[in-house]
Amino acid sequence: MADPIFDDRTLRRVRATYKDMAARPDWDSHLAQSFYANLFAENPQLRLLFPANLEAQTHRMLTAIRYVLDNVEQPDRMLTFLGQLGRDHRKYGVAREHYEAGGRALLQSLRGSLVTLLWTPTVDAAWSEVVGTIVGTMADASDEEELPAFWDATVVAHERRLDDLAIVRLEIDEPMPYYAGQYVSVQIPQRQGLWRYYSPAIPSNPFGQIEFHVRRVPSGWVSPAIVSETQVGDRWRIGAPLGALAVDLDANRDVLMIAQGTGLAPLRAQIMDMAMRGTNPRVHLFVGGVYPRDLYDLETLWHLAMSNPWLTVVPVAEHDEDPWWNTTPPAEVPPGLHQRLHGPIGKVVASFGSWADRQIQISGSPSMVKTTLYALRAAGTPPDVVSHDPLF
Ligand SMILES: Cc1cc2nc3c(=O)[nH]c(=O)nc-3n(C[C@H](O)[C@H](O)[C@H](O)COP(=O)(O)OP(=O)(O)OC[C@H]3O[C@@H](n4cnc5c(N)ncnc54)[C@H](O)[C@@H]3O)c2cc1C
Repeated sequence: MADPIFDDRTLRRVRATYKDMAARPDWDSHLAQSFYANLFAENPQLRLLFPANLEAQTHRMLTAIRYVLDNVEQPDRMLTFLGQLGRDHRKYGVAREHYEAGGRALLQSLRGSLVTLLWTPTVDAAWSEVVGTIVGTMADASDEEELPAFWDATVVAHERRLDDLAIVRLEIDEPMPYYAGQYVSVQIPQRQGLWRYYSPAIPSNPFGQIEFHVRRVPSGWVSPAIVSETQVGDRWRIGAPLGALAVDLDANRDVLMIAQGTGLAPLRAQIMDMAMRGTNPRVHLFVGGVYPRDLYDLETLWHLAMSNPWLTVVPVAEHDEDPWWNTTPPAEVPPGLHQRLHGPIGKVVASFGSWADRQIQISGSPSMVKTTLYALRAAGTPPDVVSHDPLF
């Protein structure tokens, strides 16, 4: 593990004041509003780098700040995350001076966010150090990166697997290197300027093929357009890879993977990557949905399980029956494979007891990740064996 970046006193001051700020209801949206107001007041030209609607951007910025603060005592994880974020931000045309302006605006907003504590010179010095590290790490990573800021790709297939879920296959102009399990930001022609994160469902390959599984979020800006409006021939833009979900092959520990809905994508990519290797740890994949019909990729998973003895696939659905309007009967479980279990996925996995001896990955919506973490912990699985992507 890397040496600590901040000394104990700095960490104590930042933690205490962070707690004080977070005690105010809606503190995070106040902070974000104040951040953008300060940033655009000092640098009106920067407004052009941001989309008209700042909601998703704000949510992502706050999640990133929270992630950094939560991981401030794990420098490796924090610096990797910030470096990836800096490389990803090159797609907006963000330069070093923009990071510096962002750092000043953030500090100014933090100064006005305390509820009961005072913003003293020592608190100011502690936060200046943390904010300086955040923007400095992002700017350095951005300057040092030699790979392109983004890749362009052509849609070659769009399969509406469910009425609210599409599988989109693309060919990237130049193959893009990423690790199976990472995610990327994507911009589609129907929603210019709005970037969203999606996880490739297949490993990187020399042919530049990439596949995304996208579920429509009701009243979302981008996902309904991907599911309903995407056409073969559309040109998508894909940002630099992010994330660190990965199986540690040297850990000598078996693997537990828990996926809900399209959260399957990054786990599927890793399983496919492992299938190309000779020896692997045992992998238990629990794959869940609300209804049996939501287990949209079971047949691929069954094929993988039948040809890879180290892989066990356990389907889980919250309801035992599909809704009445569903016309497709559930697929027959192949002989020898697991029958579907019934219940909320976190609870089902935790009903087997502690999984403390595994390396665990959870992938799904933020609420599913949180409830699954809670259920695992209650059944004796320590949080430090569990990984998941930041809950943007
Ligand atoms: C690391 C990461 C990887 C991801 N990978 C995938 C993937 O492979 N496939 C996939 O389909 N999605 C994935 N997502 C979610 C995706 O990035 C978008 O958030 C989602 O498609 C909604 O975008 P939107 O523009 O339609 O909705 P927005 O316009 O951004 O949001 C509209 C409203 O819906 C809410 N909302 C956003 N997402 C959800 C959700 N999942 N459930 C419930 N409410 C939501 C928002 O809070 C907002 O109130 C991933 C997210 C992250 C952080």
